[in-house]
Amino acid sequence: MKIVHQLKHSGELCFIDSSGNMDRENCRVFLLLTHSCAGGLPLGILLCQSEDEQTIAQGLEQLRQVVGEKGFAGRGHEWPQLVITDDCRAERGALGKAFPKATLLLCSFHKQFGARQEGIHAVAARYEKFLRYLDRLYARRECWALSYRGSFLTRGNNTNNCAEAAMRVLKDNILQRTKAFNLPQLFDLLTSRLETYYEARIVDVALGHWESFQRAKFLPQDGNIAALRIQQIEVKKFVVKGSTQTYDVDMDLELCSCPAGQTGAPCKHQAAVVKHYSCLSHSFLPINPEMRAELMKLTSDWHS
Ligand SMILES: [Zn+2]
Repeated sequence: MKIVHQLKHSGELCFIDSSGNMDRENCRVFLLLTHSCAGGLPLGILLCQSEDEQTIAQGLEQLRQVVGEKGFAGRGHEWPQLVITDDCRAERGALGKAFPKATLLLCSFHKQFGARQEGIHAVAARYEKFLRYLDRLYARRECWALSYRGSFLTRGNNTNNCAEAAMRVLKDNILQRTKAFNLPQLFDLLTSRLETYYEARIVDVALGHWESFQRAKFLPQDGNIAALRIQQIEVKKFVVKGSTQTYDVDMDLELCSCPAGQTGAPCKHQAAVVKHYSCLSHSFLPINPEMRAELMKLTSDWHS
């Protein structure tokens, strides 16, 4: 799966999720994914027989050695800029040790849901405990509160949902809701069937066969912005006139100065540029031959 590491997004954003009980020896699987218009694509898998911090840190270090300096879009020594995780202390501790320069964010869905659940229990149990809990939560607000995410390149992702979806693929499609016999079989399934699954998915997306073509988020919605309202400044830099103000669009970085586009999420201004200038973008489902070819490249060298 090294080829996915060539995607620009792999140096920006990584999602991690884990699940246990994958084989008879209760092996734990950690999936690391990056964001793409074809959904989460795998950057690495850790198979651990323990889930303590030191074991996970060792696994991350081994992954770094396997992908090398070119991994994570050339950030192999530093890891992606942002890592979104569930609120797992061992996992976050290991990431902090192995990759001190990466910013660790919490999945906002889990944190808010957890806060509600735990909050109710805490009130019922003891008022002081609840206050301490709120204090701890507030101290970590930059990890989970959406109001602090404006400056991060989340590309519109605030949850770990793409990693959760990948875990479902692993359990449903690859393991077919059964446990692997043992670790070697689990390893075999992950390195054969999982790769085949993602390869097929990328080809489907490139050729427009995927059901998620119905998902509006990834479809370029240009808001009927006419070509006349777009001015090309440099090869990949544009100014787009909106209804009330103008926005700067950089298709090299896949960013826009509008509120949505600031985090790197797809927006109508980028969509309009993609449509009128046939620019490449990994944030949108392919609408031209260049974008289809770019996706297909991810499968061409898949096994190298
Ligand atoms: Zn925009």
